[in-house]
Amino acid sequence: MSGADNVVWLGTPPFPEAARTALADTRLRANLRRATGTIRDRRLAVTDELDDWEDLRDTAAAVKRRTLRHLDRHLLRLEETVTAAGGTVHWAPDAAEANAIVTRLVQATGESEIVKVKSMATQEIGLNEALAEAGIRAYETDLAELIVQLGGDRPSHILVPAIHRGRSEIREIFRRQMGTWGRPAPEGLTDDPRDLAEAARLHLREKFLRAKVAVSGANFAAAETGTVVVVESEGNGRMCLALPETLITVMGIEKVLPSFADLDVFLRLLPRSSTGERMNPYTSLWTGVTEGDGPQNFHLVLLDNGRTATLADEVGRQALSCIRCSACLNVCPVYERTGGHAYGSVYPGPIGAVLTPQLVGVQNAASLPFASTLCGACYDACPVKIDIPEVLVHLRAKAVEAERRDRLLPTPEALAMKAAGAVLSSPRRLAAVQRLAALAARLVARDGRIGVLPGPFARWSGTRDTPAPARESLRAWWRRTREAGRTTTEGKGR
Ligand code: SF4
Repeated sequence: MSGADNVVWLGTPPFPEAARTALADTRLRANLRRATGTIRDRRLAVTDELDDWEDLRDTAAAVKRRTLRHLDRHLLRLEETVTAAGGTVHWAPDAAEANAIVTRLVQATGESEIVKVKSMATQEIGLNEALAEAGIRAYETDLAELIVQLGGDRPSHILVPAIHRGRSEIREIFRRQMGTWGRPAPEGLTDDPRDLAEAARLHLREKFLRAKVAVSGANFAAAETGTVVVVESEGNGRMCLALPETLITVMGIEKVLPSFADLDVFLRLLPRSSTGERMNPYTSLWTGVTEGDGPQNFHLVLLDNGRTATLADEVGRQALSCIRCSACLNVCPVYERTGGHAYGSVYPGPIGAVLTPQLVGVQNAASLPFASTLCGACYDACPVKIDIPEVLVHLRAKAVEAERRDRLLPTPEALAMKAAGAVLSSPRRLAAVQRLAALAARLVARDGRIGVLPGPFARWSGTRDTPAPARESLRAWWRRTREAGRTTTEGKGR
């Protein structure tokens, strides 16, 4: 499957263009600054109080590394244990196959609507749109996802998909749209968070009670026991996972963990890193099917969709260790200013900048690895120690290489780099260029600074305060003062 067909990439303008539009939106920037700042402070408070936080991070990173090394083995084991517990496992190499599997499973129940608990994997494959084409309506039940769905919007944050919306905007969305999807918003709805939550609760309750089929994502799955885990804050996920007769879980293949005991470390890391809580409010675990309790049909769809190709890249594969906590988004100075939509992917922020290009092919998301200052804050915050800056630099090299391959003529930047290489590899050429630069600087510099240069250098020089090169290079000065002095001294000594 070609990366361009992969639904991960939504086809918005490249990052620089989309970011420019986002930067002009002052309300968006204020919402983002407030929300990311709050979550950031909460995370720091609860991670600082643990003496073994760094040990936890090291352990989690090691478990993920080891698991990825033998991913095939763990997935086959997971298939065995889920099947033994009464579930059915389906393998989906790409988005189209995953959508076809879920659509077939829903159609087999005879239902034409489903409830969903927040799942990035199903957003990645565009499941709601695929189901709609088959006449099946999907209702998002996570509060933020509900806001996004009612607003005809796209998620912009991993943990808080409606982070770009303020309270008054949410009230307007509820008032205008709830009635078209089911129970309308109450009369006189205010923008008080309690009122908004109550409106969502009433709207969703009737859907939970009616739904026969649910679709969920998964945070983890233990291969040893076949246990699948969903972590959420509202309890709406628990309703989806417990009430319907059929549960279909779509899970990226990288979410598997070898043993049940491995959950211990991840369930301590995840809430602290994502919401800044010591414990997660709702952690649902289930193993296959239990007679008379919960869904009686359980299907697990294991999604590849570019992950195996990512695994083949020795540097890039660490992105598959991600547990989607969103800590890297909340500390990223670029994300805080542009928001998530500018990344054009369901995976925004630093993790999106390294994961999306690998899932869809670097050539299809070439601007994303450059959407970073390489400050390293994401690496410091990541609970599984993904070296995001290292992967960004690695992908930048790949993007440049891909562009070079596709171009008939070299870019001005490539020509400049080639010229710089030729000059810097020869001391004589370097000295000659330094002499020339000093001469030219005397002609164009004003008050020791170079202004805007003509032609292709105009954009570069126009945004920089560039000091004029020294009239004499260090080597020329050295020769003039030290070597001349030594010759004189030596002459005197003879
Ligand atoms: S890359 Fe690390 S910090 Fe970012 S979402 Fe994934 S696990 Fe969290």
